[in-house]
Amino acid sequence: MNSLSDRINRLAESATLAMSRKSRELRAKGVDVINLSIGEPDFDTPDVIKAAAIKAIEDNITHYSPVPGFPELRAAISDKLKRDNNLDYEPKQIVVSTGAKQAIANVVLSMVNSGDEVLLPSPYWVSYIEMVKMAEGTPKMVPSSLENDFKITPDQLEAAITDKTKLIIFSSPCNPSGSVYSGDELRALGEVIIQHKDLYVIADEIYEHIIFEGTHVSLASFDFIKDRVITVNGVSKGFAMTGWRIGYIGAPDWIVKACIKIQGQFTSGASTISQKAAEAAMNMDKETTQAMRDIFLTRRDLLLGLLKDIPGMTTNVPQGAFYVFPNIAYYLGKTNGAMKIESASDLCMYLLNEAHVALVTGEAFGEPEFIRISYACSEDTIRESVIRIGAALAKLR
Ligand code: PMP
Ligand code: GLU
Repeated sequence: MNSLSDRINRLAESATLAMSRKSRELRAKGVDVINLSIGEPDFDTPDVIKAAAIKAIEDNITHYSPVPGFPELRAAISDKLKRDNNLDYEPKQIVVSTGAKQAIANVVLSMVNSGDEVLLPSPYWVSYIEMVKMAEGTPKMVPSSLENDFKITPDQLEAAITDKTKLIIFSSPCNPSGSVYSGDELRALGEVIIQHKDLYVIADEIYEHIIFEGTHVSLASFDFIKDRVITVNGVSKGFAMTGWRIGYIGAPDWIVKACIKIQGQFTSGASTISQKAAEAAMNMDKETTQAMRDIFLTRRDLLLGLLKDIPGMTTNVPQGAFYVFPNIAYYLGKTNGAMKIESASDLCMYLLNEAHVALVTGEAFGEPEFIRISYACSEDTIRESVIRIGAALAKLR
């Protein structure tokens, strides 16, 4: 036993960060590990953004900012949401946080009471479930299927809602499946939600710029549901700014006030230098983000093409984000003589040790027969990793 709180003892380590840590440890021992476990663009932050941060330092913008962010940044985000997403959030309805991760945690802690149910269409992003548990809510999965492109239907959603359901959390484009809900699909889900009093949705749109077909639609752009939606976004993925740690929400005033209250006690305003960088990102031309998107698309097609030659790996065709989420049930129960593969986690450990490729188990995303491969890396790295994975899997009988 230890003296830690039940809360922290119940909390699982982030599986994505844990795999990255393991691959860093192996690398430090001299092993040539390919890390396809973490979801972060391999591009450098664009120069105009870096220049804005350097100027912020030179201008001594180094004191505390207001808790919800600088007024100029909140205004720039409000403009961006209107311009790109057809969303009407006034600057005072924006809260800037230390990453979308903190933004989501603020909302979950602000809204979820002990025993409230929170619906997580699966596969879901790893941290949602742990945030819900931290808030003493009851996570409830709404399973999707590869055949249905990992999207839930309005009927499935309706069937999962009880009088205890408080919140639904989903991402589109989805981490880890890359699935993208169309406008019609979102509207249909919204029509279910609006029938239930006191039911809210966190729409995590952090991958909005990395979308390969059609256009990204924001759930809150449908007026009838807007007051029930908390829109989450950030600069990590679209602008290659993971380390700068800036995310934000647009939300109804009462939720905004609650998030400011929590953030004011836990962390205060996000880094002032990063806020100035994020402001430049909001006002930047679209070409740089689109160029990154085009490269991700080429990599996606390369990876999907190469995976076809590996027996038993079936996937959907991800329409966004930078992950492929193959089913690996074919390998369960197989062995290399020394180790039997009982789960997707076993398979990931096997591939880390045997192929020196770090991936993430689908268990962390609520789908135990899948693994997640990030293709936010060079084409050569994709080729090399698939060769390694294929060779290691071929040893399993
Ligand atoms: N939501 C999703 C779906 C993500 O994949 C990530 C990646 N970290 C986040 C939120 C959090 O992003 P960040 O804290 O870097 O803004
Ligand atoms: N969101 C990324 C991922 O899923 C970054 C890691 C994390 O924040 O969990 O890999």
